[in-house]
Amino acid sequence: MSIDNFIPVAIPDLGGNEEKYAAEAIRSSWISSTGKYIEEFESRFASMCQVRHCLGTANGTVALHLALMALDLAPGDEVIVPSLTYVATANAVRYVNAEPVFVDVSPTNWCIDPQAIEAAITPRTKGIIAVHLYGHPADMDAINAVAHRHGLWVVEDAAEAHFATYKGRTTGGLGDIATFSFYGNKTITCGEGGAVTFNDDRLLLRSRMLRGQGMDPDRRYFFPIVGYNYRLTNTACAILTAQLERATEIVAARRRICDLYTRKLAGTPGIGFQPVAEWAVVTPWLFCITVDPILYGRSRDELAEFLAKSRIDSRPFFISVHRLPPYAKNAGLHLPITDRLSETGMNLPTYNGLTNADIDRVVDTVRAHARSP
Ligand SMILES: *Cc1c(COP(=O)(O)O)cnc(C)c1O
Repeated sequence: MSIDNFIPVAIPDLGGNEEKYAAEAIRSSWISSTGKYIEEFESRFASMCQVRHCLGTANGTVALHLALMALDLAPGDEVIVPSLTYVATANAVRYVNAEPVFVDVSPTNWCIDPQAIEAAITPRTKGIIAVHLYGHPADMDAINAVAHRHGLWVVEDAAEAHFATYKGRTTGGLGDIATFSFYGNKTITCGEGGAVTFNDDRLLLRSRMLRGQGMDPDRRYFFPIVGYNYRLTNTACAILTAQLERATEIVAARRRICDLYTRKLAGTPGIGFQPVAEWAVVTPWLFCITVDPILYGRSRDELAEFLAKSRIDSRPFFISVHRLPPYAKNAGLHLPITDRLSETGMNLPTYNGLTNADIDRVVDTVRAHARSP
């Protein structure tokens, strides 16, 4: 599926009961944050992530904020984060007046490097946010081992990796709390939405209160703490319920697309792929390639321009967060893997309506512009 011959990077797959359930929510008049789909979504998502608890949130960014508030951070505390991530990971740390400490990613899985974490720990370090980047789970056993040795908590930012597995265990239950996003370009979506998942019963009450304006669960309209309105609507949960019904199919379709891209692009000089660790089953988010400017003969940005001229959208990898203006006091850090990926990586169109002909068009365009030495 392309629109006027234009191939965007992402189109949500809403081909199941999404419309039907959303219409049901509207007809029932339960369109805010009460209604049967909220319970339905939260319990289903928790069980699919193999965790005891799930709370839906308004988006993935506030899910991170909620997770960090639930874990109790004091101003000036430090949280170790990878620099190769979406900016929301670091912003959430600032929301709680703590400082993100940026470390490099591993060249073999592109997620936060456990050895780099160890080296970045100071007396002020309180926790780690491991991002499952581009659908690939981080090395959670190694990360949890470092955390355990130093008394730190671990948050999984699983916004890009719904149902990916690490040594057979599903993302969402591999740290103390996990956060998800259901933004329109994410693998599972309701437009704008998110969730936190966790096993610890003690986190439930506090997280629910913080999400719901701080209201006392035993006394309506009494607010013992400063809370937030981070709730998810019944209408959004109706869409998510339909998405979860088809989750296996949605993920399998993305996998097929990424496998096709990989097979068809293999052997193109200078084009590299996302490495997959032996312990990982990736839930592909956006298909990733790296462009070696010497071997391919063009830079990543030149390739993006060629694609755009052929009416194919693409997206550069995240800019290293430690180089963005709010975090630029860290710009002197030496994070070579992050910087190299950030400069050479790009995402190609990845959505379930993409036809084989669309994929061929993208692949042929990438191949056609190689100018190998
Ligand atoms: C998308 C994303 C988020 C934020 O999710 P929103 O729903 O857009 O707020 C956080 N972290 C990562 C790694 C993401 O990719």
